[in-house]
Amino acid sequence: MADLVGDGFDDSGPISPPSAGDVPEDVAEAVRTLIRWAGDDPSREGLIDTPRRVAKAWREYCAGYGDDPAHHLSRVFEEVGGYDEIVLLKDIPFQSHCEHHMAPIIGKAHIAYLPKDHVVGISKLARVLHGFARRLQVQERLTAEVADCIWENLRPVGVAVVIEATHACMTARGVRTPGVSMVTSRMMGVFRDDERSRKEVLALIGLG
Ligand SMILES: [Zn+2]
Repeated sequence: MADLVGDGFDDSGPISPPSAGDVPEDVAEAVRTLIRWAGDDPSREGLIDTPRRVAKAWREYCAGYGDDPAHHLSRVFEEVGGYDEIVLLKDIPFQSHCEHHMAPIIGKAHIAYLPKDHVVGISKLARVLHGFARRLQVQERLTAEVADCIWENLRPVGVAVVIEATHACMTARGVRTPGVSMVTSRMMGVFRDDERSRKEVLALIGLG
C-alpha cells in the first residue's frame, strides 16, 4: 500500500482557454441584458468593460469543451517495477459551474486507481478532472465522467473517484447554507466488488 501522491503536480493549472479574441457583440449584449435585469446600468463607468471580461471568463470556465480528457491518458508507463498497489491523487482542488444556475462549484477530488500493468503520470489524473470540470456540470455526472474516462482508457483493476464540493447555488442563494458540502463517489472494478479493497481506498482517501 503506497501513496504516490507526490507534491509536485504543478501542471494542473489552467488548460489554455481558446483565445477569446474580440467578444462577439451578441455575447456582450447578453451580459448587458443580464446586468439590466439584475437592476444596474450597464453603461455606467464601472460596468462598461464588464461584458467583455465576463465573456472571456466564461470561455475559461468552460475551456473543458475544447479538451478531450481521454487524450491525457494516452501516454502510459509500463516500467512500474512490479508496483501493483493503489495509486491515489488526493485533495485535487477544482472549480466547475453547475448547469442549473451557472454558479460556481468549488471543491476537491480524490482519484485512485489500481493499475494492471501500466500507470500514467499522476498529473494526468488532475488534467482529466479539469477537462470535465471546466464545463457546465452536475457533481454526480462529473464524478462519473472522471471515473469512466480512467476506467475505459487506462483499463485498471479498479477506479475510485470521490468528490467533495460546495455549490454556490446553495450557499449563496436559495436555502443559503454556507459550509455545506456534497460528497459523491464512483467505485469501479475491485473497489466496487471487493469490500476489502473499497475499505482500503476509502481509508487512504481519509473517509474510511
Ligand atoms: Zn445550481
